[in-house]
Amino acid sequence: VNHSFVHLLQDILPADALLTSPAECLVYGYDNSRRQAMPEAVALVETEQQVIDIVRLCYTRNIALTARGRGTGTTGATVPTHGGIVLSFERMNKILRIDADNRVMVVQPGVTNQQVQDAAAQHGFFWAPDPTSAAYCTVGGNLAYNSAGPRAIKYGSCRENTLGLRAVTGEGDVIKCGVYTTKGVVGYDLTRLIIGSEGTLAIITEATLKLIPKAETKRTFMAVYNSMDAAARAVSHIMAQAITPCALEFMDENAINMVREYAASNSHTNLPQQAGALLMIEVDGSHAHIDAEIQSVDAAARVAGHIATHHAITRQEIDALWQTRKALSPCLRKIAPKKINEDIVVPVSRMAELINELNRLSAHYQIPIVNFGHAGNGNIHVNLLVNPDDPAAMHSAEKCLEAVFDLVISLNGTLSGEHGVGLEKRDFIYKELSANEIKIMKAIKQQFDPHNILNRDKTLPL
Ligand SMILES: Cc1cc2nc3c(=O)[nH]c(=O)nc-3n(C[C@H](O)[C@H](O)[C@H](O)COP(=O)(O)OP(=O)(O)OC[C@H]3O[C@@H](n4cnc5c(N)ncnc54)[C@H](O)[C@@H]3O)c2cc1C
Repeated sequence: VNHSFVHLLQDILPADALLTSPAECLVYGYDNSRRQAMPEAVALVETEQQVIDIVRLCYTRNIALTARGRGTGTTGATVPTHGGIVLSFERMNKILRIDADNRVMVVQPGVTNQQVQDAAAQHGFFWAPDPTSAAYCTVGGNLAYNSAGPRAIKYGSCRENTLGLRAVTGEGDVIKCGVYTTKGVVGYDLTRLIIGSEGTLAIITEATLKLIPKAETKRTFMAVYNSMDAAARAVSHIMAQAITPCALEFMDENAINMVREYAASNSHTNLPQQAGALLMIEVDGSHAHIDAEIQSVDAAARVAGHIATHHAITRQEIDALWQTRKALSPCLRKIAPKKINEDIVVPVSRMAELINELNRLSAHYQIPIVNFGHAGNGNIHVNLLVNPDDPAAMHSAEKCLEAVFDLVISLNGTLSGEHGVGLEKRDFIYKELSANEIKIMKAIKQQFDPHNILNRDKTLPL
């Protein structure tokens, strides 16, 4: 990026929307992967026309372009490893329309997930994707990573809850994909293709989100088991009956012991000593039916190996139950601030096999592994507790990670449920995708982004 290019950018953007000093650019060069790189300029875009003009400039000059929401992503997709321009969407953050009659909200990409939830709630609705980072992360980032949270088990992720998009390709062409209706099959499904593409195919400039009415009420309970086998069987039983919980989270024995040992004492008052795994279960529905529905799920959760169930009714009781689960992240941060955190997925019926095998790998490589996550989706956060400053431990961890990924694929699973590929998992995706699939994906990338300027070298193997 030379002076004449900066002048051209200045013609597109207002004076306060172009950052070029290293001190200002530095803070747009990292994400939650702890990787860091230096962009040469940051454009704080506010309109689709500015996006088009900047993409066209970069296209003609082959300059790398990285879209950025708020940099909370965990796999490095928003780190500008080729320098170039970062397009930050923090100022393009308007809710353009709430159309309650059609259960639709139209937004700009820089709006935060929480702003969407707050605006939808005023009309009795919510948008299903619920990452824990909702207060900070943007809809653009959510869509690019197909992010989700506990609600995905019942309500799905971004792909199931986005009707359409406007986006700008790597050539600077605007495309409008998807529909404004709840049905539609005209043309290829570019909406689902762009969602989850990590900013490598097109820059999203507008999204039409599908809203869902909030349930009247919700009930929460915790079920404790003597082993992960028992908890995994309970998950399969729960998922086989008619009532789908709106959250079905789990913690394994190591996670429970960690909370018992390191968290404030009120986080584990409900945990019996012999707990080998626990499930946190929430069911939402109507006042008229919730009692019967919670009974149905509770009955399904009582498999052999079930030790105890704690139901919560009041807000205080609900908070007390979730405290065990919420205590986990601070505990992990305290014990292993630089842990390796994966988010693999296996079919729910194979979760017990996975956890048993992870315990074997943990013993073999001498690396403590703590597992928790979204059991209803079989989406497990596998945490390898290592110190990155210890080269021998890191060498072991790399070997262990490779074995974890092989294990996941052998169980018919996938390498990432919600955190994406970015740079962190790029060199492993050949384990899941064959050369034929990668060939088609590279051809698609070439169609959308002929000069390879959008998020260069991310997501697909080099
Ligand atoms: C404390 C914490 C908790 C988290 N919890 C969860 C969780 O529960 N579930 C979950 O799934 N994730 C979680 N995450 C990860 C992260 O919050 C999500 O991936 C989130 O969607 C990223 O949003 P962002 O705005 O920060 O995007 P960024 O990190 O800035 O960018 C992410 C990707 O989106 C692309 N992008 C951004 N805007 C656009 C656009 N307009 N057009 C095209 N591409 C674009 C970027 O290029 C990049 O590839 C968590 C992270 C943290 C730090």
